[in-house]
Amino acid sequence: MDWYSQPSTDSSKPWNAHNVDELKRKLITANHILHQQGVVDAYGHISIRHPQRPDVYLMCGYMAPAIVTSADDLIEYWVRDSSPVSPNAKKGYSERFIHGEMFSKFENVNCVVHSHAEAVLPYVTSGVPLMPIFHMAGFLGDQVPVFDIATVYSGNDQQDLLVRDSRLGAALASKFVKTGNGEVQATPDPDHTVVLMRRHGYTAHGKDIETAVYRAIYTKVNAGVQTNAMMLRSAMPPGMTAAFELEPLTGEMRRDCLKMNEGTQDKPWKLWAAEVEKSSLYINRG
Ligand SMILES: [Zn+2]
Repeated sequence: MDWYSQPSTDSSKPWNAHNVDELKRKLITANHILHQQGVVDAYGHISIRHPQRPDVYLMCGYMAPAIVTSADDLIEYWVRDSSPVSPNAKKGYSERFIHGEMFSKFENVNCVVHSHAEAVLPYVTSGVPLMPIFHMAGFLGDQVPVFDIATVYSGNDQQDLLVRDSRLGAALASKFVKTGNGEVQATPDPDHTVVLMRRHGYTAHGKDIETAVYRAIYTKVNAGVQTNAMMLRSAMPPGMTAAFELEPLTGEMRRDCLKMNEGTQDKPWKLWAAEVEKSSLYINRG
């Protein structure tokens, strides 16, 4: 039986009860799905916390997610400072500090996705707030904060917008907490599921791979729908009036849609996994 025909991970199982080799295979699949769904191109990345060593996380080395193929392509990093566990590790992503600091600050976060998906970029460049506009995006909550790295740059920083060290990663992680500005105390769960990164992209997380991948994909889908809805309203022909206002989900809708999103996200995962299995671009020898 190949990997793709195996059942999806039981999300009710505690993270530390998962087999690390199974999670590595699933992480490779997730890399392929995120590419196939347009969340990552040559850039962008996904990581997981090691299920038995919570002070270690795994992500692929310096390569496009679509061509990650085997466990040998993955690198283990220490959560404390994002340095490689092995002194012989190959080159990794310069932005791995995004992942390390999320795992460091939030013990219930087990998967992190970082993306520059084009549909989301208008919301990190225009100042227009991203809001949950339809039922599959209830997880976006009452606010999607924006992290502006320019506010934490100091004199000698390389100002290429990349999260290149733990200090910048910690500043981004702080935006996932409602009071977040500056230093964040360790807390098991972030308040926000997604944080936008001004002039750059966004970061999402989850308690498992399916949740983080679902959120990364539907953040992109929601952004596209919101942009189209706003453009459509602004293109209203003279003499016509809108039948209703352009409004985000209400608080009750967000709460119940979040529950529904989390209760059904195993279904799209199986579809997305089947799609990457059928494409010859993606190879999983995990
Ligand atoms: Zn980036």
